[in-house]
Amino acid sequence: MSTSGTGSPQTGGAPEARPAGRAPLAFLAEELAQLRAQGLYRWPRELQGAQAPVCVYDGRRVINLCSNNYLGLADHPRLKEAARRAIDAYGVGSGAVRTIAGNMAIHQALERRLAAFKRTEAALLYQSGFTANAGTVSAILGKEDVVVSDELNHASIIDGCRLSGAARRIYPHRDVASARRCLEEARGARRVLLITDGVFSMDGDLAPLPELCALAREFGAIMMVDDAHASGVVGAGGRGTVEHFGVHGLVDIQVGTLSKAWACLGGYVAGGRAVCEFLMQRARPLLFSTSHPPSVAATALAALELIEERPELIERLWENTRFFKAGLRALGFDTGASETPITPIMVGDEVRAMQFSDRLFAEGVFALGIAYPTVPRGKARVRTIVTAGHTREDLSRALDACGRAGRETGVIG
Ligand SMILES: *Cc1c(COP(=O)(O)O)cnc(C)c1O
Repeated sequence: MSTSGTGSPQTGGAPEARPAGRAPLAFLAEELAQLRAQGLYRWPRELQGAQAPVCVYDGRRVINLCSNNYLGLADHPRLKEAARRAIDAYGVGSGAVRTIAGNMAIHQALERRLAAFKRTEAALLYQSGFTANAGTVSAILGKEDVVVSDELNHASIIDGCRLSGAARRIYPHRDVASARRCLEEARGARRVLLITDGVFSMDGDLAPLPELCALAREFGAIMMVDDAHASGVVGAGGRGTVEHFGVHGLVDIQVGTLSKAWACLGGYVAGGRAVCEFLMQRARPLLFSTSHPPSVAATALAALELIEERPELIERLWENTRFFKAGLRALGFDTGASETPITPIMVGDEVRAMQFSDRLFAEGVFALGIAYPTVPRGKARVRTIVTAGHTREDLSRALDACGRAGRETGVIG
């Protein structure tokens, strides 16, 4: 559940004629009414104009601390130009799923560049980070197998595990000793997959990757890391947690997204050639869902070039992160275990977290309130993400607003 605007779906046309009797979808209106009565109904705020560090939601100009536009590239002239050129050269759609007739040269060019970037043998593009996780886990595992998974892993990993039919052993967040016990209990399974987010999306902390890689090696498990929030952010050149921890060669499958720091859309697997070859035969999102429009691949290629050419973008992201975190702590906020630009302001009480987020919006700062079931009960928070595109003035104004809204809602004394 998250704080959001008061909008509702766009509708058009006349209501359809109904036959007599109870409509089979009547339960929808009942459940929606229940959500409204509980104050849990949400409709996302409307972004009016481009995604940017300061932009307009629901008619209000706000400092945006909600996006994953880490490097501020979503509106970058070079990326827009790359997309336009690709449309002129290759059209607007790929026309088919990858494995039938939609395997375009530009998809393959992007894969070569991604593999070089991640320092792996090969890379394979998916339509999104979500389909990369769900499609990969469900392709490599079956019901004879076991997944050992951090309790805070992303929903797309959880869905992949469900689709695979493999048994699941969930260990408490970042708890290496418990992960070891899960691996011991999984002995005798056909295959075992140890899987973790590299950066956890609600807390901004890092996986204990060296320890997990050592465990995977000891138990002969497949090691997989989802670096959606780490790619373009963490590690030298933004190469992710594998680079950050120096565990190249110990992670069998890395997942990255092009939807966050890359500012467009897509996901990919980076790993050995056999991994990518196998997934092209078996991963259902590649077999049954159309590949990216060429403009998206071109945008991702331009983003990759820019990230490699201009390391100062990542430096600025981290300078802003340090400045903002230090400011929040000086105001007396609890920023949890964050080690990345994802900085939660821990609140605890769910209603108070939503009030804090609403007060911030009124003060011109958009920061999402997050509560159960997205995070555990009693651990409600307001999540902030700074970007390289924010100025010091933006962040100073945001800190002032946090101070005022925090005192008014009792989050700080
Ligand atoms: C955002 C995210 C994804 C999904 O990526 P998309 O490209 O947006 O589908 C997967 N895993 C994690 C950890 C994420 O934060």
